[in-house]
Amino acid sequence: MKKVSKIVMGVLIFILSVSAFGKGKIYVGTNAEFPPFEYLQDGKIVGFDIDLINAIGKEINKDIVIKDMAFDGLIPALQMNKVDIVIAGMTASEDRKAAVNFSSPYYEANQVIILNENNKDIKGFKDLNGKIVGVVLGFTGDLVISEMKDVNSKKYNASYGAIMELQNNKIDAVVLDSQTAINYVKHNKGIKLCDSKGDLEEYAIAISKNNPKLLSEINKAIEELKKNGTYDKLIEKYM
Ligand code: GLN
Repeated sequence: MKKVSKIVMGVLIFILSVSAFGKGKIYVGTNAEFPPFEYLQDGKIVGFDIDLINAIGKEINKDIVIKDMAFDGLIPALQMNKVDIVIAGMTASEDRKAAVNFSSPYYEANQVIILNENNKDIKGFKDLNGKIVGVVLGFTGDLVISEMKDVNSKKYNASYGAIMELQNNKIDAVVLDSQTAINYVKHNKGIKLCDSKGDLEEYAIAISKNNPKLLSEINKAIEELKKNGTYDKLIEKYM
């Protein structure tokens, strides 16, 4: 090979390797069935969490690659290194903390009860005894209701399925995270929220226990986004 073409080759290889490895990628697991945090719009995954993680990616100079999967497959995917982190309106519960690390919390929520508009007898969680209550498999709402022995829970793969069955009077109530419930009540006819609220839950980003460096980078980025106003802008956009 001539000297000039060797140089050209060298430059090309250099450019290619910088573009391939220069900016690392972070694979992010989510479950795009949880509006306004993550949902599909015209076939694209959008939402508060998606904007937040992209803003974090910019802060730490990493490209974000989103992978959509079932909610109950998210922690296993993290443990099997199929994704680097999970952002999915996921509550940093004690049980989950045994399996993965969580970032500092980025949102607070409660479990709430969604009812048919004409329901007058359910005023709080105690009134769910003897009733059929829809929950989503593996959500914290599922855990709360499963602990109430006199409640018949009906488990769904996605929250929208439970809402439709409530509208069709197939079940008496749906227990779901507050902001998502507010969103459903706003956009669907014939349903309302019950006033009573469950315990406080904090949403956080889940990270493998093997990656403490990424955990501290993400925490620093969250702090910065809260300070510089980006976080507040996202709250305004989605909530
Ligand atoms: N916050 C609830 C949980 O962690 C629901 C999350 C979700 O549906 N994406 O179980």
